[in-house]
Amino acid sequence: MKKKRWNDYLWIWPIIYFSLGFFNILFAWLGMIDFIVPIIIASLGGGKAFCNRYCGRGKLFALIPSVLKKTNKKVAPTWMYGPLFRYGFLAFFMTMFGNMLHQTYLVFGGNAPLRTVVKLFWTFKVPWKWAYTVTSVPAWVTQFSYGFYSLMLTSTLIGLIVMSLYRPRTWCTFCPMGTMTQGICRIRQGKAG
Ligand code: SF4
Repeated sequence: MKKKRWNDYLWIWPIIYFSLGFFNILFAWLGMIDFIVPIIIASLGGGKAFCNRYCGRGKLFALIPSVLKKTNKKVAPTWMYGPLFRYGFLAFFMTMFGNMLHQTYLVFGGNAPLRTVVKLFWTFKVPWKWAYTVTSVPAWVTQFSYGFYSLMLTSTLIGLIVMSLYRPRTWCTFCPMGTMTQGICRIRQGKAG
């Protein structure tokens, strides 16, 4: 049996992340690691190393069906793999990310109140006030936490849904971070070529 390395256990990271954010929303900032590290690795020529070796979410999606012994072998529809959907979803995701930054900016400028809710699927507002445990930080810092936690939770839930409907890592076919790092790799290959 193949000896396990430390990064084989990174599936625990999303569990720790969402648990911490459940009790203290400020921990949501830690999710920036999942945003910044893949971009840095790809920009420095490391290709898709983050996806292949270090992504906790990818590992979790692979692990859950194998632990439950319910691995779905069904392949997702071809449109889900196509560039139209992948880049369309990336554009949508980045627009929602921009919205979240705008909301944070409004709170920063005192033009909107702090909203202690987690927005699921960009639609459903779930009260999450109990996680507002540190009130001494500026309101915009907390607002960003709620927005970012919402994005992370929503994308993970979508990943879990497609994991149960199709092959375990189907989310990875249209994950915005995967699409972005792939784009960076293409640009670098173009430069090198
Ligand atoms: S595509 Fe997304 S979820 Fe999949 S391994 Fe890469 S960063 Fe992680």
